[in-house]
Amino acid sequence: MAQRLGGSIGRDVADDTFVVDGALSNSWTMDGDDLLITLPGDTHEIGIDTEIDPSANSKLMGLYASNGMLCTQCEAEGFRRITFFPDRPDVLSTYTVRMEGPADKFPVLLCNGNEVAAGEGDNGTHWAEWHDPWPKPSYLFALVAGNLVARRDTFTTMSGRKVDLAVWVREGDLSRTEHAMESLKNAMKWDEETFGREYDLEVFNIVAVSDFNMGAMENKSLNIFNTKYVLADVETATDGDYDAIEGVIGHEYFHNWSGDRVTCRDWFQLSLKEGFTVLRDQLFSADMGSEPVKRIEDVRVLRSVQFPEDSGPLAHPIRPDSYREISNFYTATVYNKGAEVLRMMRTMAGEERFRQGTDLYFTSHDGEAATCEDFVKSIEQGAGLDLTQFRLWYSQAGTPKVHLTLDHEGDTATLRFAQTVPPTPGQPDKKPMPIPLKLALFDRKTGKHHGEQLVILNEAQQSFSFDGFAEPPVLSVNRGFSAPVAIEREVSSEDLVFLAEHDDDPFARYEAMQDIVVRHLCATLAGSLDDAQRNSGRQAIGAAFSAVLGDAKLDDLMRGELLILPGESYLAEQMLIADPAAIRAEREGLKAWLGQTLESQFVDLHERARAVPGGTSAEAKGARKVKSQALVYLAAGNPGLAARTASAQYDAADNMTDRQGALMVLTSLQTPGRTHKLLDFYNRFKGNALVIDKWFALQASSLHPNVLEHVKALAKHPDFTLKNPNRVRSLYMPFTGTAQGFHAASGEGYRMIADLILALDPLNPQTAARFVPPLGRWRRIEPGRAVLMRKELERIAAAPKLSRDTYEQVTRSLD
Ligand SMILES: [Zn+2]
Repeated sequence: MAQRLGGSIGRDVADDTFVVDGALSNSWTMDGDDLLITLPGDTHEIGIDTEIDPSANSKLMGLYASNGMLCTQCEAEGFRRITFFPDRPDVLSTYTVRMEGPADKFPVLLCNGNEVAAGEGDNGTHWAEWHDPWPKPSYLFALVAGNLVARRDTFTTMSGRKVDLAVWVREGDLSRTEHAMESLKNAMKWDEETFGREYDLEVFNIVAVSDFNMGAMENKSLNIFNTKYVLADVETATDGDYDAIEGVIGHEYFHNWSGDRVTCRDWFQLSLKEGFTVLRDQLFSADMGSEPVKRIEDVRVLRSVQFPEDSGPLAHPIRPDSYREISNFYTATVYNKGAEVLRMMRTMAGEERFRQGTDLYFTSHDGEAATCEDFVKSIEQGAGLDLTQFRLWYSQAGTPKVHLTLDHEGDTATLRFAQTVPPTPGQPDKKPMPIPLKLALFDRKTGKHHGEQLVILNEAQQSFSFDGFAEPPVLSVNRGFSAPVAIEREVSSEDLVFLAEHDDDPFARYEAMQDIVVRHLCATLAGSLDDAQRNSGRQAIGAAFSAVLGDAKLDDLMRGELLILPGESYLAEQMLIADPAAIRAEREGLKAWLGQTLESQFVDLHERARAVPGGTSAEAKGARKVKSQALVYLAAGNPGLAARTASAQYDAADNMTDRQGALMVLTSLQTPGRTHKLLDFYNRFKGNALVIDKWFALQASSLHPNVLEHVKALAKHPDFTLKNPNRVRSLYMPFTGTAQGFHAASGEGYRMIADLILALDPLNPQTAARFVPPLGRWRRIEPGRAVLMRKELERIAAAPKLSRDTYEQVTRSLD
C-alpha cells in the first residue's frame, strides 16, 4: 500500500533518517515534493528526521523565526513545510510534542493541549513535552518558543472547570494586553450563553507575533495572533482597533468549536468554519457594543470588498469548485458572504430554531471533518427548514439583483419582484435563489408602519399584495440587510428622505441616507442631471444631513455612521464602467459642498463632542467618532479652518482615536502644519511598529495630490521592509484605494503595485498575491486606464518563476 505524504521542505529524506517500526528502511521514493511510502499491511510506526531553517523561512508558513522567537502558521498547508505528513484537514491525529533548546534564548516553550512534563537538559538547555488529547488536523498544529511574558487570568466554565488563560507577548508589551484578555473572557462566556459551547482544556494561550501573514490563527488551545489584534492602550490604539481586537479574539476563540472540534473535510469546505465563525464573531461584537452600528460596519465591508470581488474576474461561490492555491480563497466571499448566507438561514428560522440547528450540528459532527452539506442538513433538521433550493447560495457566485416596483390601487399595495443572478466566470446561467427580505410599509401621514414582514423570494418573478393602504405607502425593504443582494427600484427622493427621517430600523435609515447620495452621484456622473436637478439633489442631501446633525435622539455612534458617504469602490460597483478620477472628484465635490453648507453645524458638533469626557463608554466613543467626521467635512469645505481645528485636536489628544483622526485630515491637506505633525507623530511613536504602520497608512491613503510621490519616498524609508507583512500592507494596501495615486492616469500607480508584486513574490507569495485583485478590476475601469492595468498584469504573468499563488490570481484576472 502506498501512502503519499505532502512536503515542500525543499529536499529529500536523507538515507539514514527513515525508520519503519524501529528499523532503518528504504521503502520510500520522492514524487516531486511528495514522499511516497510503499509498505505492506495497514499499520506501521514511521520515523522521519527533518532538518529545517526557520530563519530562512520568509514565506511565514510552517515553522519560522520572528523577532527572536520561533512560531508556526500551518493553515492551510504549512505543516508540510515542517515535516512530511498527510497534510489534509480530514486526517485527524492526537499529537505529543517534545521541544528542546537553549533556555536563555527560548525560556518559554508552548504547544497545543496541556504541558505534561518539563525539565533541564545539558549545556543550558531545557525541554517541555505537551500533549493535546483532542484529535486534530495538522493545520491546527502550533508551537511557540521564545522569550515571552504573560498576562494571566482564569475562567470558570459553565460546568465549573477552571481554565488558566495567558496572553503572551514580548516584555515591553505586557501593559497593552488588558483588552485582549477581557475580550477573551467575554468571548468564552458569550459562547456558553449564546451557542451552549464550553471550553474543553485546562489552558488557553494566545501569543502575539509581529511577522504574520494573517490576522490570527485558531490553533487548538494555542492561538497565534498578529500583534495588531492583541496590543492596545488608549495612547496607541484607536476605538476601531479596540473593536477589531475584540472581534478577532472572539473569532479565533469561537473556532474552538466551529473549526477545531468540528473541522472541514477538505478546503472546498472552508466557509463551513469561516462563514459560520464570522457570523458568530459578528453576533458577539453586536452584543458587546451597538448592534445596529456593527451591522452597518459589516455591510460596508461586504459592499466595498465582497461585492466587487463577486462581480470581477476572481468571483467564486462561497464553496469554491476549484483552486490551484487554497491561500487565494481566504476571501471576503468565503468569509463575509459565507456569514451572510448563514445569517439568512437564521433570519428564516428565527434565533431559537437556528440554535437548535447549530446544537444538532455540533453534537452530530463533534470530532469529525464535516462538509457544508452536513451543516445545511443539521439546520434543516434542527430548525425545521426546507433548504433544498437554498443550497444554491453555496454553489452560485455573483451578487443577486432584485428589481422591485410598488403599485397602489384602491387600498391595496402590490410589490412585484424580479431577481437575477449575474453571470460570473464559469457560471453563465444561474437559477433563482431563496432571498429573505424584511420589509415594512409606512403610512406617509403617521410616519408609522403596519408591522415588519418577512417575504421570501424563490422565483424569478413574484408579487405580494398588502391591504389597508388608502394612500400609496412608503416601502422600507431589505431591513437589517436581511439578504446580501443589490436592490434596484424606482423611488422618489421624497420617499428616501422620509425613510431617512422616520424609519425605525436603524439599518434601513442608514440605507436611505446612502441611497439618496448614491442615486445623486451616479446620476451626476452619468451626466443625466441638468444644473437645476443637480442643485435640488444636493439640497435634498443637505437637508438629510442637517436632520442627522440636529437629531437629539440619535446617539453619536449611529450619527457617525449616518454621516459617512458611500465609498468610492461601492459607487464604482453601481456602474458598468467606472472612471475612478471622476468618482473621486464628484464625491469630494459633494463633501466640500456639505462642508460649506453645513459648516456651522459641523463646527457645533465638533465643539459639543469635544466637551464629552473621555473613556471607553459608548458616549465617549461616539463623541470621538463624530469629531473625526466633522473634521472630514470641514477639511473638504474650509481647509484653513479644518487645519486649525485638526491641529488643536492633535495637540490636545490623550488618545489615538483623536490623534489619528486629526492627523488623517492634516495629511490630506496641503498645509504647512502637515509635515510638522507627521514628524511629531513619527518621533512620538518611533519604535512602536503598530503605530508606525498607521503613520505609513495615513500617508498612503491620503487625499493629497502627491500621494504617489509620498508612497515612493516612504518605500525608501529606513523603517520600511518587504519582510514584514503588516508594514507592506500598511503602505501599499491603502494606496490601492487612491484615485489620484493608484489610478493616476499615467499608469505609474499600477506600475508601482506590479513592481511590488514582483519584488514580494519570491519572499512571501501569499502576501504578494493579495495585491493582484486591485489590478484585476481592469474590465470595470474606463478604457484608458484599463489598458494600463492589463499591461501590468501581463508583465507580471510573463515573469519567470512566479509562485503558484500569484500566478493563479494573475491568470484568472487576465482570462
Ligand atoms: Zn477564521
